[in-house]
Amino acid sequence: MNGDRYSVFSVLKNAATGNRHWQPAWRSAAPKPSYDVVIVGGGGHGLATAYYLAKEHGIRNVAVVEKGWIGGGNVGRNTTIVRSNYMLPANGRFYEWSLKLWEGLSQDINYNVMFSQRGVINLAHTSPQLDTFARRGNAMRIEGIDCELLGPAEIAPLVPRLRLDHPVFPVVGGLIQKRAGNARHDAVAWGYARAADRLGVDIVENCEVTGFTFDGDRITGIETSRGPIAAAKTAVAVAGSTSDVLRRAGLERLPIESHVLQAYVTEPIKPFLDTVVTFGVGHLYISQSDKGGLVFGGDIDGYNSYAQRGGLPIIEHLSEGLATFFPSASRLRVLRSWGGIMDMSMDGSPIICKGPRDGLYINAGWCYGGFKATPGSGWCFAHTIANDAPHNLNAAFTLDRFAAGASIDERGAGPKPWLH
Ligand SMILES: Cc1cc2nc3c(=O)[nH]c(=O)nc-3n(C[C@H](O)[C@H](O)[C@H](O)COP(=O)(O)OP(=O)(O)OC[C@H]3O[C@@H](n4cnc5c(N)ncnc54)[C@H](O)[C@@H]3O)c2cc1C
Repeated sequence: MNGDRYSVFSVLKNAATGNRHWQPAWRSAAPKPSYDVVIVGGGGHGLATAYYLAKEHGIRNVAVVEKGWIGGGNVGRNTTIVRSNYMLPANGRFYEWSLKLWEGLSQDINYNVMFSQRGVINLAHTSPQLDTFARRGNAMRIEGIDCELLGPAEIAPLVPRLRLDHPVFPVVGGLIQKRAGNARHDAVAWGYARAADRLGVDIVENCEVTGFTFDGDRITGIETSRGPIAAAKTAVAVAGSTSDVLRRAGLERLPIESHVLQAYVTEPIKPFLDTVVTFGVGHLYISQSDKGGLVFGGDIDGYNSYAQRGGLPIIEHLSEGLATFFPSASRLRVLRSWGGIMDMSMDGSPIICKGPRDGLYINAGWCYGGFKATPGSGWCFAHTIANDAPHNLNAAFTLDRFAAGASIDERGAGPKPWLH
């Protein structure tokens, strides 16, 4: 188990010895033949689940099995926006709990995840759109979640380079959540991996899950590229690969589609934007990274795919949006683009549940909002696995809600994953 505790003293001590004695952040574990819990997928959600299983429930005989490397999936590919500005109570309560965990996360896992509460502003371009934001804001306040409705005069000093008076898309107002913001994505993966490892969890990288083992209908473990692993409980948290992996458990038809979501970063510039801004025209969100690049993204590519790269129409659309609202950014060069595979659920809300097979637990359907959910998702999934029952916070996020007609359709978009 790793012994380093990160502190000013360990930094000074290691500096004095030429930084030659830092230990690896987590052990490179070889899989054991069996565990109490095996978690498939070493993304943010799988790692957080392992950490909270060990910390909150004392279940430490746990393995996280990852086909690639820690941080190689969506957890290391996202635009890092963290917020809890949801309208429906089930989502609002869940994401607010997650936001509260974010607020203490660096101290909790002894790893600086650089959570920066710089605020997220959703801009409205028509008065009906502002009305819907006001409604959402009211719903948030009923749940005790912070938000404020802003007029253009209040937005101007917060986002000085924003074009407010566009003739077609004027900014008529916005909804700000000041406690929302950004975090450093790969630090979240590394921090949870390290914290789980310190509590005895095995992090097994380069180990692809190729199937499941059964006793009748009950799942008794996994088949992997490094041999079979038995488990009393098998938890799947593979985000965009959910349909592919669960097909091997006999779940052929899930209410999930896989789509690519792309993001872009420009060359670094001096401080330009202090908050996170999202636009109500089309779909565009933008923030500035600590290195200075403008990080922006928008809609998913409108076709199903397991490729971690997308097509050109999205970059054209988003660049137009960026130049429309930030004319002074129009001559910036885009340095990099990348993509990740989204597990788009049919109502835009997640699935954190036990079943439908004995021994199986599912964490999926994160659409493009799962990074902010990482602590809350891991916490609730760990509770569900440990107690064989959901916590109140994830009781609504069942798989059978789609058959029962109890969908949690935040945007009223229904079974159109490209609209969520
Ligand atoms: C471009 C982009 C921008 C985004 N922006 C935001 C944002 O601003 N805010 C926000 O909240 N969310 C955002 N998201 C969504 C967020 O990143 C995801 O919802 C979230 O990271 C998914 O959970 P995860 O971290 O566990 O997924 P992942 O990191 O993808 O973890 C799943 C893991 O499962 C592994 N796996 C798959 N198949 C197998 C197998 N057979 N065996 C073993 N392991 C397997 C994968 O290799 C992967 O490491 C964005 C995503 C992308 C791609």
